[in-house]
Amino acid sequence: MPTQTRSTRAYAARTETSPMAPFSIERRDPAGDDVAIDILYCGVCHSDLHQARNEWHNTVYPVVPGHEIVGRVVKTGKNVTKFKEGDLAAIGCMVDSCRVCASCRRGLEQYCERSPTFTYNSPDKHTGGTDVTYGGYSESIVADQAFVLKVSEKLDLAATAPLLCAGITTYSPLRHWKVGPGQKVGIVGLGGLGHMGVKFAHALGAHVVLFTTSPGKTADALRLGADEVVLSKNADEMQKHAASFDFILDAVSAEHDINAYLSLLRLDGTLTLVGAPEKPLPVAAFNLLLPRRHFAGSAIGGIAETQEMLDFCADRGIVSDIELIPIDRIETAYERMLRGDVKYRFVIDMASLKG
Ligand code: NAP
Ligand code: ZN
Ligand code: ZN
Repeated sequence: MPTQTRSTRAYAARTETSPMAPFSIERRDPAGDDVAIDILYCGVCHSDLHQARNEWHNTVYPVVPGHEIVGRVVKTGKNVTKFKEGDLAAIGCMVDSCRVCASCRRGLEQYCERSPTFTYNSPDKHTGGTDVTYGGYSESIVADQAFVLKVSEKLDLAATAPLLCAGITTYSPLRHWKVGPGQKVGIVGLGGLGHMGVKFAHALGAHVVLFTTSPGKTADALRLGADEVVLSKNADEMQKHAASFDFILDAVSAEHDINAYLSLLRLDGTLTLVGAPEKPLPVAAFNLLLPRRHFAGSAIGGIAETQEMLDFCADRGIVSDIELIPIDRIETAYERMLRGDVKYRFVIDMASLKG
């Protein structure tokens, strides 16, 4: 149990109906394998909004969201070898896991059989599980070096932050289902995740089709790497693509008709859900039976794969398209996100919290 803690400025939602507001948290002094990071930027994921408003029905209040964290190391525990003071560092959706179960040993910490410790709203081992973890809408964070990622000095740092969730959540399934040249790949929803899905599927060499409900996003989708754009509300346009896709990644945050996309898969094609809407999505049996389609899901990515994705991005010069906001604009950002009006990820400039 740490003896020292440091009072840290943050933003929290105190109830499911109260807006995000200033809040003070305690961060432990870094000991052993801990790395303390001064947070420079934190991306705004739709999961932050789902959880601030208790849409997944498991939020412990007050909640400090934020799991797309980049910053500089300010202090390290005595066992830390991976980082030194002044290094760039990043934290994504997890800060720990059991490390011994079969999933953890395979580098799939996100599927830890004892549940990973998520960056926010998870029982915090360091307080004996009485407190929950607090995320990146804060001026600093402390985590075990094993869950801290290295960041290239080459990339724009603010635009790198969203890679820690939107990036890995789309990269991982595209790699797992072996997306590459010669394949027709669909990405559904041009938001934070979707726009990274388009960039990665394009970088991996696939023929990319973006499905959107927003006609105004067509030009951006083509610029981001889509080969074709389909307005999903137009049944004729959808019909032209019937039974033709090898793989579709669905990154939609709200209720929508999943059957409209299942019917676009060819024999043995796969539709993978990464979006996490509050309500269940009905599936018509015959959309799966004929012709032998797969309906799957995927959650973020393991730590080694997250580092692989960050290195891939540094090699290829891939970052997010972002709108930088001060932290007191977070509620406006949430409202715009709910309208599908994100270009294409909000990132909080944490200097606005310290100022
Ligand atoms: P986002 O930026 O708000 O993007 C969601 C996009 O979905 C919107 O931009 C919009 O795109 C589309 N959309 C929204 N409402 C819709 C509706 N009613 N019908 C059809 N399309 C709609 O959200 P995000 O941060 O990318 O997150 C997307 C989802 O993934 C969220 O549910 C989030 O919690 C989840 N998520 C899952 C994981 C995981 O590990 N699996 C990780 C992170 C996030 P168009 O305007 O192009 O239609
Ligand atoms: Zn996220
Ligand atoms: Zn485990």
